[in-house]
Amino acid sequence: MSEDTLQFQAEVGRILHLMVHSVYSNKEIFLRELISNASDACDRLRYAALSQPDLTADGGAFEITVTVDKDTATVAVADNGIGMNREDLVENLGTIARSGTGAFLEQLSGDARKDVALIGQFGVGFYAAFMVADLVEVTSRKAGESQAWTWKSDGKGSFTIAESDADIRGTRIVLHMRDDAKEFLESSRLRHIIQTYSDHIAVPIRLAEAGKDAETVNSASALWTRSRNEITEEQYTEFYHHVGHAFDKPWMTLHWRAEGRIEYTGLLFIPTSRPFDLFRPERRPGVKLYVKRVFITDECEEVVPGWLRFLRGVVDSEDLPLNISREMLQHNPVLTQIKAAVVRRVLGDLEKRAESDAEGYLGFWDTFGQVLKEGLYEEPAHRDTLLKLARFRSTRDGEWTSLADYVARMRPGQEAIHYISGGEIDALRRSPHLEGFAAKGVEVLLLPDAIDDFWIPSVGAYEGKSFRSVTRGAADLDKIEADPEKTPEEKPEASDLGALIAAFKTQLGDSVKDVRSSDRLTESPVCLVADEGGMDIHMERMLKMHGQNVPPTPRILELNPRHSLIRKLAGEADSPRTADMAHLLLDQARIIEGEPLPDPAAFSRRLSALLAG
Ligand code: ADP
Ligand code: MG
Repeated sequence: MSEDTLQFQAEVGRILHLMVHSVYSNKEIFLRELISNASDACDRLRYAALSQPDLTADGGAFEITVTVDKDTATVAVADNGIGMNREDLVENLGTIARSGTGAFLEQLSGDARKDVALIGQFGVGFYAAFMVADLVEVTSRKAGESQAWTWKSDGKGSFTIAESDADIRGTRIVLHMRDDAKEFLESSRLRHIIQTYSDHIAVPIRLAEAGKDAETVNSASALWTRSRNEITEEQYTEFYHHVGHAFDKPWMTLHWRAEGRIEYTGLLFIPTSRPFDLFRPERRPGVKLYVKRVFITDECEEVVPGWLRFLRGVVDSEDLPLNISREMLQHNPVLTQIKAAVVRRVLGDLEKRAESDAEGYLGFWDTFGQVLKEGLYEEPAHRDTLLKLARFRSTRDGEWTSLADYVARMRPGQEAIHYISGGEIDALRRSPHLEGFAAKGVEVLLLPDAIDDFWIPSVGAYEGKSFRSVTRGAADLDKIEADPEKTPEEKPEASDLGALIAAFKTQLGDSVKDVRSSDRLTESPVCLVADEGGMDIHMERMLKMHGQNVPPTPRILELNPRHSLIRKLAGEADSPRTADMAHLLLDQARIIEGEPLPDPAAFSRRLSALLAG
């Protein structure tokens, strides 16, 4: 039979090199990875057989068999699941599947010691086999096809594929164990590993020594069907790793059974750290839908909304029909109810956690708040709860605050929740727009996330207090009572800017909407603000960045009447220098905003002229 030799994708080559030369001490995880894949394969075939019963016509119950043979120094992991054909083998075991391996690769530093430590954090799936084996043979037949194939590799750059005449259902992986991995030829060792990492696997895992009877070594019942007090924290964690393709500890575990009008079980996890693909469109879905213990799909937007996409786990419904097709899941009324209930449950538990563990909750918010804020924008029904859950940085100190706490600290006469958005926290903190607010002791929320500019306009207000950007409209600081602890600095007399403003307007023409005296500046001479009804400066820039066609809205140039430069200019508004000054100050305000100058050459010419005196 002919045999083809193919090269591994370069990225896979890097991973394999690391595996083959691995000095990682926790090599036993290879078994967890292979069993996890075998279990997924059984789930997939069970689902496919719902609509094509002949796929499992041979009648064999799903099982995973681990066989150890000291004579040949092999460990074999076999499953009777979905199997792989030639293309699948090449694609799945020769390139980077969309698995944890992608994240792993991104973290690789090239420093072997650091990289080896990463193996423990990521697992790296199938390729972990090469930590213990110097030859791996995968024989597989895809359900519904007649030809079986054998994939073989020593992990050193290439693999071979050949037709096989094996009569199997599913996949059999034979590991020829390395000399330094002979410890895994002891069946007692394997049993211990399976019980540690894979007890939660719902399919029976049978362990056999060559020539002897096999025995089932795991509990083989779906973890979420067991009662909470029978499950240890370690078992929850191992299940989370398996179902979520995750390698951290869950920050929160929610396990509940809903009985009544709709019956379902939820076992959901909130990760501690951010999944690497959280903001990527091709991200891996996190919550699997089961119907009466049968896996249906993990590609279903109908189980949890996008703004809870960091959730990992399982929802298992008793009411949906088993033969439901993935297409029928859309707009299915039962599923809609389950989704609503799941959302309520998760938000409710988060509220409780925010109270009982305020510190830990801030860590969660720091990691996933950005995603939850999408819900403020998308889901009016949960807005009030989400506003309660939200935390923000503010100018008060570096700490997080809730909106309730912010409102409680509002100054007498303050009517709105003031915020500044767009840009890194530190850049926001330095913005001249904040000066007047700082001088009066008025706290301003710092909103660095892109999503902030979307939810604020659609939410509008919290408890009757509207959100107002400090870069837009009049600051109206006069109405707010100053914090008595902020002794106002000796302020220089505000000069009359009438003549200067008129001269600036003539000079700047259409490049500004207006020129006016500012009450929000105390230290900087100028700043740009958006009109009350106009688009927020940052919002406009963001839309442009995303290729939207927004006509530039001219802005208002504000002059600080107490700044020495402005006072000086006000005294000589009819001087010939005023023309250049108007343009220079507008450009300066643009620079502070981080905006490109429309005519850098003119800026440079004017500045040079000024410096030359
Ligand atoms: P992951 O499980 O995170 O996707 P792996 O490296 O563990 O990544 O596996 C890569 C892919 O190979 C899987 O997604 C699956 O498509 C395929 N695969 C691995 N083992 C099996 C198996 N026993 N049966 C069927 N397909 C498998
Ligand atoms: Mg895997």
